[in-house]
Amino acid sequence: MENTVPLVDAHCHIDNTATIPNSDIVKCIMATNLDDFNTVSNQNNKLNGFGIHPWYSHLFSLNADCNDKVSHYKSVLHFSPNLPDSKIDQIIENSLPQPTNLNVVIQDNLDCFATLKFIGEIGLDKSFSLKLDDSIECQIKLDHQFKIFERLCQLANQFNLNVSIHDVKCTMYCFTTCEKLLFPNPNVKIILHSYNSSMDFLQNFWLKNLYDDKRIYLSISKKINFNKSNKLNIKLIPKDTILPETDLNVHDPNYCESLIYVYEHLMSIYNLSDLDACKRLLYANFSQMLE
Ligand SMILES: [Zn+2]
Repeated sequence: MENTVPLVDAHCHIDNTATIPNSDIVKCIMATNLDDFNTVSNQNNKLNGFGIHPWYSHLFSLNADCNDKVSHYKSVLHFSPNLPDSKIDQIIENSLPQPTNLNVVIQDNLDCFATLKFIGEIGLDKSFSLKLDDSIECQIKLDHQFKIFERLCQLANQFNLNVSIHDVKCTMYCFTTCEKLLFPNPNVKIILHSYNSSMDFLQNFWLKNLYDDKRIYLSISKKINFNKSNKLNIKLIPKDTILPETDLNVHDPNYCESLIYVYEHLMSIYNLSDLDACKRLLYANFSQMLE
């Protein structure tokens, strides 16, 4: 019986390589932009997501008339005030593509969304800096990130899809957006991917509102949650909300090792008798999340 329970990965990625390896691991493959979404759409993986990662949100607009590339990027990116306007124009011209109208992408893929399991990876990131032209750093305005995030939450709501959320230092905004757009829909579950904010916030906001209805999950990664910077005391999180994840490209040479590492650490944190017990727990959580 134990051997029939597969390993699961609740959040991973893909490059443009044509095949998905390690077919014995059940994988939820997220998309972060249109390139990886197109790759994942052409795979026969069953658990795929559509998302615009906050790090790529500047490439998209919700305005039908976003054709003026320079004015779009000037409105969504924050450059150093020391950079002359002409230099900014030149950087935009040389290093950024024509913006994409997200509403057109959504309209063109309506059939496809019905076959997906997730909207993800989506979210907000206050710490990220975008590098352009090798040396110029700028930030994607939070205002713009909010708009793209909200639009994708509306999409999750429309198609009753679970969301896999990346949040760096926007915890309250992320919560209130979900509260407004997703909490009213009982068919949408929320997976906080590599959550690394406070335990208090987790308990008093996310768990308090969604735990009783089994609508909140935390996908735990080696690189964030078992890292020195980790703020979470995993032992205090209800174990039926925990999912394992790699957040790696499925072709990464460390992919399997990284997933096993999470399983082994969760096994000891929750005092489970052996790896099979851990596999059964995480598979039960995973099945519940997909129900
Ligand atoms: Zn990710």
